[in-house]
Amino acid sequence: MKTIDEIRRMLAKFPKENLGFYPTPFYQLKKVSADYGVNLYVKREDFSGVSLFGGNKVRKLQYLMGDAKRLNCDTVVTYGATQSNHAMQTATAARQCGLNPVLFLEAVVEPNPEDVRANMLLDTILGAEMHLLFDHGQAFKEQAAEERKAIAAGRIKELEKAGHKVYDIPGGGSSPVGALGFIEAYLETLEQSRAMGVEPDHLFVPSGSGGTLGGLIAAKALLGNPCVVNGVLVGPKGSSYEEELFCLARDTLSLLGAEEQELSGLLTLHGGYYGEGYEIPSKEVNDAIRYLARREGLFADPVYSGKAFYGMLQCIKSGAVAPGSNVIFLHTGGTTALFSEQAIVGDLSRA
Ligand SMILES: *Cc1c(COP(=O)(O)O)cnc(C)c1O
Repeated sequence: MKTIDEIRRMLAKFPKENLGFYPTPFYQLKKVSADYGVNLYVKREDFSGVSLFGGNKVRKLQYLMGDAKRLNCDTVVTYGATQSNHAMQTATAARQCGLNPVLFLEAVVEPNPEDVRANMLLDTILGAEMHLLFDHGQAFKEQAAEERKAIAAGRIKELEKAGHKVYDIPGGGSSPVGALGFIEAYLETLEQSRAMGVEPDHLFVPSGSGGTLGGLIAAKALLGNPCVVNGVLVGPKGSSYEEELFCLARDTLSLLGAEEQELSGLLTLHGGYYGEGYEIPSKEVNDAIRYLARREGLFADPVYSGKAFYGMLQCIKSGAVAPGSNVIFLHTGGTTALFSEQAIVGDLSRA
């Protein structure tokens, strides 16, 4: 087991670009706490900066951009949905570092070229090179992934031929280098909660590409910290999802130079709260978003943070989280989705 200071020293070996404002705020949501009979705290990763449209990808990008600069890259390539927060935050980070952003964006929800919204609008303002790929539906998912890989590989080859050095970031920034950022986030959150005299019992976070959870469970393992790390899925995942998260956590620990850790049992996944799928709104989630806004003045989004918030409330209601527990909601951002296509916003636009 390691102390917070020992892990900080291990992280300090890695080149890192300062892209946001850390530590992010941490405070209690008093009204939701009273309503639900727990002590609920929020960790505002949505408040990471550098723009108003930050989120959890910024922590990963601090290490990813550090790595890109170390390798003297001048171009970064990444992947996501057309309304990907990760793609937008990568384009922002690339501009901060003086690199050129290239985005491969899959139209899970088809954008209207006459009315470009939310993250796609920000990508456009940032002047990112954008390649749109149209979704083939669930049955063709694998074929679509292959096609996307081939298109991206072709463009990367062209860029390299033209003399550019390309840094290739996987979807969500979920490589071991990116996940280092969420080892750091775990340490920061624990210090903030302890400064308030609070030992966290549960932490809830939405989970997509898995880098956030991968880093968090790596940190939990290193510290031997008993806080239950809960991942709320934001869309359907294969049966190997948990093993993929453990694999990423193991690779992250190995990159860090830590001894192997026993990870089984360190992760609690919740697959029942995303409704019909990724970027598909649900009535229950939208109700939870309205409740949070009307009780605390805090916005969550229908794709990620709202789904996790809803899942967390259900776990508290069911008793899976014991009454009186100290619970942390890790707000990962994503609120630009509130300004995206109607198909993503759902009934939030109605009073
Ligand atoms: C990407 C994202 C997540 C999921 O994080 P992963 O590391 O991909 O699992 C959660 N919330 C928001 C707002 C995101 O953009």
